[in-house]
Amino acid sequence: MRAILKKHFGYEEFRPLQADIITHVLARRDALVLMPTGGGKSLCFQLPALMSAGMTIVVSPLISLMKDQVDALRANGIAAAQINSAVEGAAIGEIKRQAESGRIKLLYVTPERLAIPSFRAWLKTLAVSLIAIDEAHCISEWGHDFRPDYRTLCTLRPYFPGVSVLALTATATDRVRRDIIKQLRLSQPRIFVSSFNRPNLTYTVRPKRNAFPVLVDLLRQDPHASAIIYCFSRTGTEKLADKLRRQGFVAEAYHAGLDSETRRQTQERFIRDETRIIVATIAFGMGIDKPDVRLVIHYDLPKSVENYYQETGRAGRDGLPSQCFLFWSYGDVMKHRFFIREIENPAEQQRVEEKLQQMVQYCEQRSCRRQFLLNYFGEQWTADDCRGCDICLPSVAPDVASMPAPTFDRELFEQLRQLRTMLADQRRVPPFVIFGDRSLQEMATYYPQNLASFARLYGVGQRKITDFGPQFVQLIRRHTADKNLKELARPIWREREAADTDIVSATYEETKTLVKQKLSIAEIAKRRGLVTGTIMGHLEKIHRIDPALNLDYLRPESTRLAKITAAFKKTGGMSLSPVREILGEEYSYDELRLARMFVRS
Ligand code: ADP
Ligand code: ZN
Repeated sequence: MRAILKKHFGYEEFRPLQADIITHVLARRDALVLMPTGGGKSLCFQLPALMSAGMTIVVSPLISLMKDQVDALRANGIAAAQINSAVEGAAIGEIKRQAESGRIKLLYVTPERLAIPSFRAWLKTLAVSLIAIDEAHCISEWGHDFRPDYRTLCTLRPYFPGVSVLALTATATDRVRRDIIKQLRLSQPRIFVSSFNRPNLTYTVRPKRNAFPVLVDLLRQDPHASAIIYCFSRTGTEKLADKLRRQGFVAEAYHAGLDSETRRQTQERFIRDETRIIVATIAFGMGIDKPDVRLVIHYDLPKSVENYYQETGRAGRDGLPSQCFLFWSYGDVMKHRFFIREIENPAEQQRVEEKLQQMVQYCEQRSCRRQFLLNYFGEQWTADDCRGCDICLPSVAPDVASMPAPTFDRELFEQLRQLRTMLADQRRVPPFVIFGDRSLQEMATYYPQNLASFARLYGVGQRKITDFGPQFVQLIRRHTADKNLKELARPIWREREAADTDIVSATYEETKTLVKQKLSIAEIAKRRGLVTGTIMGHLEKIHRIDPALNLDYLRPESTRLAKITAAFKKTGGMSLSPVREILGEEYSYDELRLARMFVRS
């Protein structure tokens, strides 16, 4: 399973619960998965999809979310497709044909589509291995995102007997959880609940005095970091966005009063890193799967702790350090009360007022913010010091906290970002589909000089090595050559070698057998009908995986090897061309490449 994780997704380890959930699902059993935003829910159905013979159906509420996920899967070389109202008839026909011939591993569909009897009947003719229902809380009226379309999913479970159904949500409240199980008619489901702690988020509350200059400071700390600023009213968002633009920021307002096309475009520009700052009402939220939002700022008080947790949850989905900042004033409480007074149903009025009170308590209390949040959702939190809130980290409290000094090469990181944006534009996908920030940060930390070391980085799977590796490595090499920097060894992941062993197919084994017979490279190439360069590639790979394999008979003659070794030392890297430049024509690339294996070991 880990081998598949690295090969397709480029990750080394499972997050908590992922492996258990996957094993459970592969045993064809139902489950409900409760994990916070960014917890890694998608992988819980994507990996079983790859490991099962049939096709996995993924139900997802929003076309925009669906598109991003499908793009991300495809960039990893996984056969995923989507069927929804935005896909043209002809394209749907083609997708159906592919599904029928078993060429699609994951099919994303909207609940509306599943409501169509003929579509369901068609699905039933296929080998379906798993049904995943993302954002499952949408089926519950108790949730914050009830979608009537989700009700059509009630009959899905009995319609597909023998297929496991996996429901996933980030909703923390108990009532919604119970409702999901009931509505979806899950059969003896196992419930997986992960901690709702978001360790990479720092929570800060600050009095709302002189807020604008503080906000500007926060935003200036990292000039490229994506930020969402939540405001109470539509006009509030417009005014603040305008004020920020006058300070030179690329900021746009987003609220329910804008027409849907404007909203769609604004969202798209944000996801594509064209607009850095969104100033929004709570209308901005679902549909935002952007993994690298570094700042969520509440410029006005949220109306409940649920809202606050949900909104701050949009920061740092990729697990990198991110900040949640709340500006707090009593005046905002009054604004909320003004609307609460308008509520006609007294029970409802009281409920809303209580929610507001709890939010006030969060802001006023002098104990750990994280503890408050987790306790609010019924989770025990016992650590004395969360190391990530203004109470536990008093030094960051009074004014501006946004981030620990970056330990990676900022300049290279910016160049890598630009390359990422360019590739993303070419392919019409969001930049994070190419590589996430964490992958770029690792590139700007370890400076991989070749594809082998590039392949070790976080988020680099097999397909991305082929598709993007050469361009990124080239850029890194140019930078390191200019600045006279050296590659650093990334802590080696031992399991990776195991993964490689799996990937090594019969072709390597064949070459290995001939090596054991001590044949020359030319002879091996001849016998295998391959060129010597390919055989050399096999040798490098075999040598990396199995350093014990004796290649001594291929060792270049000692004076030549000494010269080559010296040349490698001089260049400071492992690339062939600078070495060839030093040594000249007398040494062939094949010889240098062969020698390199002995220089290393
Ligand atoms: P959720 O749907 O729970 O909000 P996602 O499935 O979008 O979360 O995952 C959040 C991020 O974490 C994504 O960028 C995803 O690729 C990444 N991720 C998921 N599982 C792992 C893992 N095992 N190792 C590293 N990163 C992971
Ligand atoms: Zn704390």
